Amino acid sequence: MLFIQKLEEPTFLTSYIKKHPTANYESESFRPFYHVLKSTLIKEQKGLCAYCCGPISMDNSHNEHIEPQHQKDGTYSRRSLDYDNIVASCNSASTCGSRKGNNYDEQRFVSPLQKGCEQRFSYDPDGYIRGDEYTISLLNLNSYRLRQARKAVFKMIMNMRNDDIRSAFCCDQEQYWPYSNVISWYLREKCD
Ligand SMILES: [Zn+2]
Repeated sequence: MLFIQKLEEPTFLTSYIKKHPTANYESESFRPFYHVLKSTLIKEQKGLCAYCCGPISMDNSHNEHIEPQHQKDGTYSRRSLDYDNIVASCNSASTCGSRKGNNYDEQRFVSPLQKGCEQRFSYDPDGYIRGDEYTISLLNLNSYRLRQARKAVFKMIMNMRNDDIRSAFCCDQEQYWPYSNVISWYLREKCD
């Protein structure tokens, strides 16, 4: 997981809410904005899924509500249009937002919007993510596919010096390298 620094609420969203004070994310009038919202979020997250940090594009991601829109008790979240409750997640059916569905315990969930969230997890060279069990299991962050992807990143950086890793994988400020969570953890842990 990487901390997501939320930017200002985009102006299209501010004006929509002003014009439609009782609307929610599923309102017909909001549908035309799904696309622009997603593109704003992907840019904000520098091209990575909010949860697994895999690469995402417009075609393989969705607008993900951290507090689910449909609550377990059958009520509808009042935060469905709250910009600080929406991130972009990959569409993998077995991990991340799709896996999380409407299951969510606010007290236990480690959100990528929480400062310090990165310190709650560590990574093994075999690709496993360790740390907060509830969040790892809810998002299925130790799926075979994700372990393989992280293992490949480890393999790539393991014999490199920190400065070389930084200049090879951390220089683009607009777009993060896939699984940058592993890279930034490794750089924090390994002092050379
Ligand atoms: Zn993901």
